[in-house]
Amino acid sequence: MSTNVVGRFAPSPSGYMHMGNLLAMLLAWLDCRSLGGQMLFRMEDLDPARSKPVYMQALAEDLRWLGLDWDCGWPEPAYAQSNRSTLYEDAFRLLQNRDLVYPCWCSRAERLAAASAPHPGETEFDSGCRCAHLSAKERLCLEASGRKPAWKLRCPDREITVEDGHYGTIVQNPARDVGDFIIRRADGVFAYQLAVSVDDMLMGVSRVVRGRDLLSSAPRQKWLIETLGGKPPVYCHAPLLTEGSGKLSKRLGSLSTEVLRKETTPEALTGKLAFLCGLSETEAAVSPRDLIAGFSWEMIKKADIEIAPEAR
Ligand code: GLU
Repeated sequence: MSTNVVGRFAPSPSGYMHMGNLLAMLLAWLDCRSLGGQMLFRMEDLDPARSKPVYMQALAEDLRWLGLDWDCGWPEPAYAQSNRSTLYEDAFRLLQNRDLVYPCWCSRAERLAAASAPHPGETEFDSGCRCAHLSAKERLCLEASGRKPAWKLRCPDREITVEDGHYGTIVQNPARDVGDFIIRRADGVFAYQLAVSVDDMLMGVSRVVRGRDLLSSAPRQKWLIETLGGKPPVYCHAPLLTEGSGKLSKRLGSLSTEVLRKETTPEALTGKLAFLCGLSETEAAVSPRDLIAGFSWEMIKKADIEIAPEAR
């Protein structure tokens, strides 16, 4: 058994889990356990306005209820992003010293969004703003205004290749495809892309398994980790569960695990998830542990999985 494999659960406590999150968590756990790895649980509570203790408790209980365990992590303080700002600060300084960071005085909404992972429907592409090219005089004027800037990272203008463990070769030119991105908001809160990269690097995460909606973040995270002197993990993205017209999102008010827990059993739900993603031929009840031996990414569907509302 390998002892170097480290997987992670990295939920954001901004809502209750739903089947879509649970599928990604189940696959992250199966991927890690099938390789004999250690699992860690990191609480991505970067955004003080969105993160609620009630959701933190519920996320942990949901995972335990389903039968997904972890070896270290939350509620140990070191595994909550809200306690890790000095580490993000160090990375920020390093990037600043390499002249990769510049202040941005543009719209407030853009800065606020940056602490959360960019899920579908949330515009990510930044076609660039004047802040990247201010003259020394213009910058001094803006600084003198007293208004605090957000901080953006200059993206590399070259192709970054990620070998995704499920979707294969992904090539992105960050400067062309996503644009410079915010790594620290004007209110001082560090942004998702920086925090997740620093954490995956410092926590020695070697396998990142999460929903396909974050696939376009992988090249930037790989580049950030390399720039910070770390070894990027293997990224494996999972298909999303959709309900008719789009991703099942907790923000869209899908049936939460709170309800699911009352209406079904962990084995019945695991059986349903395993069937939906291609791991099992039937919906027969099964425990996550019983799926470890037969787990293989080759069995998992690539296309998003549409489920009828009554199938939830
Ligand atoms: N915390 C992020 C979310 O819940 C996921 C981060 C990641 O897996 O990279 O959307």
